[in-house]
Amino acid sequence: MARYTGPACRLCRRVGEKLFLKGERCFTPRCAIEKRRTSPGDHSGRRRRVSDRGLQLKEKQKARYMHGVMEKQFRRYVGMAFKKPGVTGQYLLELLERRLDNTVYRLGFAESRRQARQLVLHGHFTVNSRKTNIPSYLVRTGDVIAWVETRKEKDFYKAQVSGIPKRPVPSWLSLDIEQMIGTVVSQPAEEDLESGIDTRLIVEYYSR
Ligand code: SF4
Repeated sequence: MARYTGPACRLCRRVGEKLFLKGERCFTPRCAIEKRRTSPGDHSGRRRRVSDRGLQLKEKQKARYMHGVMEKQFRRYVGMAFKKPGVTGQYLLELLERRLDNTVYRLGFAESRRQARQLVLHGHFTVNSRKTNIPSYLVRTGDVIAWVETRKEKDFYKAQVSGIPKRPVPSWLSLDIEQMIGTVVSQPAEEDLESGIDTRLIVEYYSR
């Protein structure tokens, strides 16, 4: 599938917010958003009025960029969320949260979702003892996510897992630090979901 391979910081500048796509660098003054908040290619220095449709589009793009999901896949998630009874926006975030690359990131095995996606693609993980290299795999309650044993001898693994947990592990996951194994203990709760996304705008965008 086609994938955006350009600079990550450009995506943040496009939506005018930090999307934390580069791990540690995002928390330093080297962050591109800290240096200049203008959109890529905009040298006018003027603030433009954004229409309602523009705001909805921006929010949708923000959610996509954050989770590294292409439009077609994102539209699929929205379709699944519309079919599910309950709050559409919340179920959409739940689907994004349950992606394997996001789960790896949440467990602290990767610095960013982008890196998590790459680690999954390169076959670093097993799900229920089966090697799984599909970032969009949706984890379920009871799934066990572990590093492939042969990767554990590499220096890369040692550097990657040193200092874990680097950030709080959400309540829907449990982490065995000795074995570096993560388990899905429940469905993500509302408080576990990405809070910086206004799903109402996304639902409105796709409701037209
Ligand atoms: Fe976005 Fe991180 Fe780049 Fe800052 S450093 S612009 S938060 S990807």
